[in-house]
Amino acid sequence: MRTLERAGLAGVDLLKAAQEMSEWVVKVRRELHQHPELMYDLNVTTTIVKRLLDEIGIPYEFPVGKSGIVGQVGSGLAPVVALRSDMDALPVHENPDEDTRGFASLTAGRMHACGHDGHMSMLLAAAKLLKERESLLVGTVKLVFQPAEEGGAGGLAMALDGVLEKPHPVAMMFGMHLWPWIPSGTFAMKEGRMFAAAGTFEVAVRGKGGHAAAGIGVDVVDPVVASAAIVTQLQSIVSREVHPNEQAIVSVTKINGGDAYNVIPNEVVIGGTLRAFSRDVYNLIERRAKEIIELTAKAHAVELARVCMEMLYPHPDTHPQDVAKTVVEQDRVLEAKATMGGEDFAYFAEKIPSAFIYIGIGNETKRTTAGLHSPNFKVDESALPLGAALHASLAVRALAERGGIKDLTKTDL
Ligand SMILES: [Zn+2]
Ligand SMILES: [Zn+2]
Repeated sequence: MRTLERAGLAGVDLLKAAQEMSEWVVKVRRELHQHPELMYDLNVTTTIVKRLLDEIGIPYEFPVGKSGIVGQVGSGLAPVVALRSDMDALPVHENPDEDTRGFASLTAGRMHACGHDGHMSMLLAAAKLLKERESLLVGTVKLVFQPAEEGGAGGLAMALDGVLEKPHPVAMMFGMHLWPWIPSGTFAMKEGRMFAAAGTFEVAVRGKGGHAAAGIGVDVVDPVVASAAIVTQLQSIVSREVHPNEQAIVSVTKINGGDAYNVIPNEVVIGGTLRAFSRDVYNLIERRAKEIIELTAKAHAVELARVCMEMLYPHPDTHPQDVAKTVVEQDRVLEAKATMGGEDFAYFAEKIPSAFIYIGIGNETKRTTAGLHSPNFKVDESALPLGAALHASLAVRALAERGGIKDLTKTDL
C-alpha cells in the first residue's frame, strides 16, 4: 500500500513541482492579461487556452456553454472531479505601474481587473501537474474554463450544457479567486454560506406628464411621488419581514426621470439590487419587492410600464478543506468571511458538493492590495504556483477519497 506522499502526490510535492514552473505560469498569466475580453466574446482568450492545452497534451471540448472549454486529464472514467477557472475580463481601463507596464492590457477600456487571467494560469499549471502524473489517475479531472462570470451567468450556461453530468457525473468541484484582501501566501475558505444570492430589478413607473403647477388636479399623474413612495416602501422588507438571524439587502441604486423644473415627467425608472444568503430569503424579498412595487403604484394611480427582476447568482454552500493545509503551513489557512458579493461558481455549487477558496495576493511591498475591479488591481504573481498546487492537490485528494488514484485506498490518505 502506498500513501499520497509515497506516490508523490502530497501537497508539498505538488507545490514543489508548481514552483519549478513559476516562470511558465507567470508568462501564461501575462499573455492572457494583455488580451482582456468581455463576457462570452472570448475569441483570443480561448485560442490561447486551447493552444496551451494542446501543448500540454490535454484533450478538450469546445465550445461548452457558448464559449467555455472543458479539458480532461486521467482515465476518462469515474470518479470525476472538476476544477474551474473563469475567463472574462471587465470594462475597466487599466492604470499600470512600472512593474506591470510591460504586459498591460492592449485594449483600451478593458482589463483583467478581477484576476481571471491568474485563475486561468493557475488552472493550466494544475493541468500540467496532473498530466505529468496521469498514469496514477484511475479517475478523471475535468478542467472547466467558463465564460461570463461577471454577471453573464456563464456557469449556468455550462451547467445547462451538461458539464456536471456528461459523460460521468462530477462528484466534487473546486473554484478559486485571487484575493487582495488577505496576505500573499495564505488561503482562505469557509464552511457554509460564502457568497450571497444576488439579483437585480428595474421598474418603469409611468404616470402622465404635464405642467408642474397648472397640470396638478387637471391631467397630471405624478410618477415622481409614486416612485419616491416605492423606494421608501421597499425599505420595510428587510427591516420588517426578514428574520433578524437572516441577512438580506434591498438597495435602490438608481432613479432616473425628468429633466426640467416645471415639467412632471411621464416616466421614472427605478433600479437596484436584492441580495440574501439563502434561496428562501431571496425568494421572499423578491416576491415582496414585486408586490410592494405593484400595489404602491396602484395606490398612487400610476402604471408600471415594466418590471424586470433577474437573479444573477444563486448562493453556494462550500465545505472546508484540510487539503489547503498540506500545501501551505496550517497557520496560513484562514477562515474566509462571508460576503454579500455574488459568485457565478454558485451555479455549480448549488448542484454538487463544492469548495471555493481565496488565494491571498495582498502584499504591501509589491503594492498588490488594490481591490478587485479597480484599475489599479495588481497580482502578486508569487501566489500563482500556490494556487496551481492547491488546485492539483484538491483534485488528487478528492479522487483518492473515491478510489480514483492507482493503488491507493481511503486509509492511505
Ligand atoms: Zn469580478
Ligand atoms: Zn472574479
